[in-house]
Amino acid sequence: MSYTASDQWVEINAEAIIQNLQEVKYILKEQVRLIAVVKANAYGHGAAGTASILESQGVDFFAVTYLPEALKLRKAGIRSDILLLSPLINNTQVMEAVNHDITLTLSSKNDANLINQTALEIRRSVKAHLKIETGLGRFGMGVGEALEICHTLSENPLINLEGIYTHMAEAVSARFSQEQFELFSATIEQLAVSGYSFSLQHCANSAVAILYPHMQMNAVRSGTLLAGQYPAGVQGDMKLRDPFKFKCRVISLKTLKRGSTLGYYRTYRLKSDTRIAVIPAGYIDGLALEVGNQPAGLVDLLKIILKTILAYIGVNRFSKTVLIEGKNYPVRGKVFMQMAMVEISPGEIIAVGDEVEVPVRKTLVPESVPRFYRYKEQVISENELNSDKAALSAGREYA
Ligand SMILES: *Cc1c(COP(=O)(O)O)cnc(C)c1O
Repeated sequence: MSYTASDQWVEINAEAIIQNLQEVKYILKEQVRLIAVVKANAYGHGAAGTASILESQGVDFFAVTYLPEALKLRKAGIRSDILLLSPLINNTQVMEAVNHDITLTLSSKNDANLINQTALEIRRSVKAHLKIETGLGRFGMGVGEALEICHTLSENPLINLEGIYTHMAEAVSARFSQEQFELFSATIEQLAVSGYSFSLQHCANSAVAILYPHMQMNAVRSGTLLAGQYPAGVQGDMKLRDPFKFKCRVISLKTLKRGSTLGYYRTYRLKSDTRIAVIPAGYIDGLALEVGNQPAGLVDLLKIILKTILAYIGVNRFSKTVLIEGKNYPVRGKVFMQMAMVEISPGEIIAVGDEVEVPVRKTLVPESVPRFYRYKEQVISENELNSDKAALSAGREYA
């Protein structure tokens, strides 16, 4: 690990991301364009770093939720198309987006009027995708509103309606997915009858792209698979790899007497003299998060209760553990906001400064924690990655 002032960092295996990309490409039908979703800091993997890796491998279209995320990608030198997945609400935002060549989402007449006026004001062309509501209930419009918008905007040569899309509420229910898909397809047809067509038509996220290949249309928006995970409820034989490791260093080590209690509310009592290591990873980093999660059904609830009881009575296998030098050690006491305590078994040679790998919720690791990318023996920081894109392309394996 190269020097970092921080005692906590995230290590991303760039080769794993590249492999995931190949696997995604493999399930896409011919002529289907990939829109790589790198929202929420690329699901924790670092938006700029991840997009740089993907762009070096030929990906030419990205999507994020909010304008600041898109601007961050531009600042990092990403030149590909970037689609904003949420609408903008004022003139200043639209100008900023247009000046950075961001592709906008039109989800209502309001959005359309705003973009229409701004384009005329600054005399710049604007690329946008229409968002159709088919069952998620978040944002988007029906066919009537879409027709009106197309009609209004067709009079403004600065507006390029490049795409049309919708978003699926779930994928596991084939019936509901099919209903959404049919409503979307019918909308596209009705617009076509009135003379409005769109070169990009998309509705599939990762799950839909896998389960219903006919819904890939001519573009797929995928994020979860690139991050190395199957969407919930979906299985398959893709060779996905998790690129993500949260690491930190032991920052304190001491021996506490038998009978001492650990942490707030004194939830853990030592049964013998014990060495305790403090690590700089806490619940803001997504450590021990299950506490705040709503169980997904009764069976899940019972499992959580059982695991909690087993962890409480000290069954190691059910405690949260961290990895030091390839060995598991249990987290003891309540996890702090930015720290946690780890029990070191007797006889283990562990020192302040040793590297610790911590299981965390990837999407919750703050952006302020630096991301480093491992690629063919090199370790590259997120900032360096963009200038090193040439190095990544040189090792390019997919075309
Ligand atoms: C997050 C998101 C996606 C990507 O979904 P995955 O399941 O991660 O592939 C696609 N489209 C929209 C609108 C999204 O918000």
